[in-house]
Parts: sequence; C-alpha cells; structure tokens
Amino acid sequence: MNSSLRADLADGYRKIDVLRLTDLSSGNISARTDDGMLISPSGATAEQIGPKSFVFVGADGRWDDALTPSSEWQMHLAIYRACDEAAAIVHTHSDSCVALASLRRPLPGFTYVVGFFGGTDVPCIPYSTFGSEALADDAASALRDRTACLMANHGMIVRGTSLTSAIDDAHRLEVLCRQYLLAMQVGDPVLLTDEEWQDFFAQKDILGYGQLD
Ligand SMILES: [Zn+2]
Repeated sequence: MNSSLRADLADGYRKIDVLRLTDLSSGNISARTDDGMLISPSGATAEQIGPKSFVFVGADGRWDDALTPSSEWQMHLAIYRACDEAAAIVHTHSDSCVALASLRRPLPGFTYVVGFFGGTDVPCIPYSTFGSEALADDAASALRDRTACLMANHGMIVRGTSLTSAIDDAHRLEVLCRQYLLAMQVGDPVLLTDEEWQDFFAQKDILGYGQLD
C-alpha cells in the first residue's frame, strides 16, 4: 500500500540529510494518505531509512504497536487536520532556524522571498516540550494561514502541497534565516513597508507561486 509514496518519502528523508537540514537525525517528514499519514520512524537515520521504515498513523492517531512513529507525530497529524491543502510536512532542527528561534523571534520581512510563506513574516510559536499536545496545537494554528513557522528553542516546521515543495521550502527557510542572521551582524535589516508588501502580493497573484527570480 502506498509503495511509491513510501519510496518518495525515503528519498525525501535522504535529501534533507544531504542538505544538512537534519544533522544527527534531528528532523522528521510525513505525507498525507487517504486515511491518515505516513511518517518517519523514531530514531531514523538517512543511512538506514527505506520505504518500509515509514509508519502509518491513522487519522484517529493509532498505529501498529510493533512500530514507533516520530515523537512529533501529533504535530504532523494536527497540521493535516487543520490544513486541507497540506500534502506533506517537514520538521527540522536546521542551524539557522534554531539560532533565530532561540531568540524567540519571527523571521521578519527583510526580503520579499519571506512572502512566499504566505505573509509578511514567518512567525515563531511559543516553546513547549517536544512531542506535546501544546506544541502540536500551536504549530497547527500557526500553519493555518502560513506554510511555515519557527518553533521557539526548537526548530521549524513547514507544510507543502507536495513532498518536493515541502522539502524545497524547508531548505528555503533555512537559507532565509541564514541570510537574516548574516545581515544582523552588520546592522538592523530594512524591512519591506506595508505598501511594498501590497505590491508584492498583487504581483504574486499575477505571476503565481514560486516566481523567485
Ligand atoms: Zn524537533
């Protein structure tokens, strides 16, 4: 069942490892299925992961007792419940996202590319214990009108309309946080104005998502 999706997930997990977004197995990925989701297992490594490693978790939050899904399965499931358009989710502890999230600050609109996450910033949700219901609720709430958020003192999470777009956006958010932290070493980055954002979103509606050049 879902054999090609399982193979895509294994490829996707290896890709985020190659991108250095999940050093020391610090992330997890999932994809929506008809009746729940497939999520990377607890303790996954890029060297060992394969199509059969992914754990099916039903929409009711149940899984086969012989398997153990990622400790953040509740957060993934809560986002699928809250966002009909979410087809895949990537959660990482990537360096620059963690660095900014440790300041408990959102990523502000210092470049127009921030707007491709759905608003004029990428919010930072409050700190809660990993694997907790509070963390799941806060992430699902933030991802209703944005495609990504930072997680205070933890990392980031992104949803996509496909596995490829979720992985690309996880990579993009890491690059943006890195660029923002770089700019802050020199001074306070100038943020786009309300008028500039209005023009951006009008242009985005005309040109569509992904026109980043
Ligand atoms: Zn985590």
